[in-house]
Amino acid sequence: MRWSDDALVLRRTPFRETSLLLHFFSRRHGLLSALARGVRAGGRAAASMDRAALAGFHTVVMGCQARSVQALATLTAVEIKQPRHRLMHGAAALLAAQVIQEALYRFMAPGEPNPGVFELLEWAWDQLDGAQEPLAVLGICQARLVRALGYGWRTDCCVGCGGQEGLRYFSAKRGQVVCNRCAAPYVQPILTAEAAQAGPWLFFLGDHLYAILQQLEWTPGFVALSVADKAVLYRIGMACLVWLGRTPLLSDAPFRQILGLESIHSYATSSS
Ligand SMILES: [Zn+2]
Repeated sequence: MRWSDDALVLRRTPFRETSLLLHFFSRRHGLLSALARGVRAGGRAAASMDRAALAGFHTVVMGCQARSVQALATLTAVEIKQPRHRLMHGAAALLAAQVIQEALYRFMAPGEPNPGVFELLEWAWDQLDGAQEPLAVLGICQARLVRALGYGWRTDCCVGCGGQEGLRYFSAKRGQVVCNRCAAPYVQPILTAEAAQAGPWLFFLGDHLYAILQQLEWTPGFVALSVADKAVLYRIGMACLVWLGRTPLLSDAPFRQILGLESIHSYATSSS
């Protein structure tokens, strides 16, 4: 069987003497691996492939063939469809891309197509390649990913009482906003150890962020938010992913370090 698809290269691993094992996220086939035979040796096998296409964050068109659905596919052709050359030159952008890649591997099963997530990934790579603020890109991207995974992201009413007034908190455990009244028992005694335990999953939004959470759009209003507000959005998305996956993402700490951000836990404990 043969097919072609739009894809983004996630990982490259040397295979035997002359080949590369490539891990893609593709539009219609989801996560998949393919072997680029002989591509490191040059010569005839490599001639049909644009090796630069395999090196970065470009959207590529890949051609594959495999004996069966289960068998490891062989890459037969690849070319750049949408180039992105600048992303790999920004340290924070690269670390942001790693956070997104790790989340993909954790939450997407191999061979499970999700065109919406593919478009989200292309959007995130475009923004990072365009030198947009990595913290802001990641904030929107993670939240949209949580929503695209079907986890939910409700902002219309309080998860506790169903009310629509004073929606000023977000619960990462429930994926929904919480009103002032329902949040109060968890927020006020935050200085005790007991409350600190409840803290990391509940985030104060303020007026600006509540509006952002409703839209999750890259608007001028969002771009103009303070770094502190963007950091809260990033932490909300990360907390949702950690809660969903039950373990921290390894790429969270390096990304926070380069931006000088505290961890989810220390933030939630100190901010209330
Ligand atoms: Zn409530």
